[in-house]
Amino acid sequence: MENQIQPRKVLGKIQPYSPGKPIWELQKELNLDKVVKLASNENPIGPSPKGTAAIQSRLNDLHRYPDADTVSIREAIAAKLDVKKEQLIVTNGADELITLLSETFLEEGDEIIVPAPSFSEYDFGANLMGAEIVPIPLDEKYQFDVDKMLAAITDWTKLLYICSPNNPTGTYLGKEDLERILNEVPERVLVVLDGAYSHYATAEDYTEGIEFVKAGAPILVMQTFSKIYGLAGLRVGFGIARESIIQTILKVKEPFNVNSLAQAAAAAAIQDDDHVIASRESNEAGKKQLYEGFEKLGLSYTETMSNFILLQLGPDAERIYQELLRKGVIVRYGKIWGLPEHVRVTIGTKEENDFFLEALTSILK
Ligand SMILES: *Cc1c(COP(=O)(O)O)cnc(C)c1O
Repeated sequence: MENQIQPRKVLGKIQPYSPGKPIWELQKELNLDKVVKLASNENPIGPSPKGTAAIQSRLNDLHRYPDADTVSIREAIAAKLDVKKEQLIVTNGADELITLLSETFLEEGDEIIVPAPSFSEYDFGANLMGAEIVPIPLDEKYQFDVDKMLAAITDWTKLLYICSPNNPTGTYLGKEDLERILNEVPERVLVVLDGAYSHYATAEDYTEGIEFVKAGAPILVMQTFSKIYGLAGLRVGFGIARESIIQTILKVKEPFNVNSLAQAAAAAAIQDDDHVIASRESNEAGKKQLYEGFEKLGLSYTETMSNFILLQLGPDAERIYQELLRKGVIVRYGKIWGLPEHVRVTIGTKEENDFFLEALTSILK
C-alpha cells in the first residue's frame, strides 16, 4: 500500500550515505579467505591500547547512565589541547556534531559554503534543515579556492566548511589562507574546520586551527577519535570553539549522546602519545611504500597530508575498482565525489599495502 504519511519535503534531497563495504560482507559475497579494507580511513594498527583498557574498567557500571556533561573526557581534552573545558562539546562521532551544528544554526533558506569534493555529511546536515548548499570546486590541483569561497558569502551564509586535510583529496588549507578567511568572513558566519585528519598533517604551514579558537576567531574546530586514535567503532568526536558558540550548540544535544564506554576509552586514548606516534610512523612508512608502488606502475596520485591517497586510475577506474574487490581489496571508488577516474585508498599496514599493490599490479598487467 502506498504510504500516506508524508515525510518532510526536504528529505527528498537526502542521498543515503555510502559507507565502505565491510570486510565480512565481501568475504561472504565472494567466499574470500583474505580481505583487506582500505576504504574508510581507519587506523590499520588498531585502537589505542590505553583506550581499550579503560573500557574494561567500566563494564560493571553499565547499568548506570553515562555522564551527560562528559566531564572527564572534556578535562582530558582541555588539558591536552590547552583550551578551557567550557570550550568543548563531545559528540557521538564528529558526524553527530555536524548534525548538531546544522540543527543549531541552519534555518530553511540559509546557506552553507562547502568546498567540493569534500566530506558528504556537511551536505546531509544542510539538507536535513532545508538549507542550501553552495559548493565551491577545488582547483585543478585540488587546492582550496579561497577567493571563490569568500566571494560566495551572501546574507544567508551561516556556515563555511573547510575540511583540512580534505577528505577525499588529502590536500590542506595553509595557515595564512585560514587566517585570511577568518579575517574576512562577516561575524555572522561560523567557519567550521574539520580536522578529522589533523594528526597526520606534516606540512610546515598546516594549522589544526586551535590557535584561532584561542584568539577568539569565529571558528569551530572539529576532531574525532575515529581516525588516529583508532576508535571508530565507539563513535566519539568533539568540537572546540568560543564558549558562547558551544553553549548554543549544547541546546540541541541529547543528554546521553556519548556512551560510557566511549567516554572512558576516549579520555584514555587522548593521553596515549605512544599510540599516536606509532600510528603516525606507520602512516608515513605506508605513504612512502604506496607512492613508490604507484610510481612503479606509472600512476598519478595527489600528495596527501592524511592517511589516505587519491589515486588516478583513468577511464578504467571503475573496472579496476571492481576487480580489486574480487581480489579481496576494498578501496573507495571516486564516483561519489564526481571523480570517476579515481579511487581513494586508505594507507594500511605494510602487509596490507603489499597485498593491495600486488592485486593492482596483476590487474594492470
Ligand atoms: C571520518 C570523518 C569524520 C567523522 O568521523 P566520526 O567517525 O563521525 O567521528 C569527520 N570528518 C571527516 C572529513 C571524516 O573523514
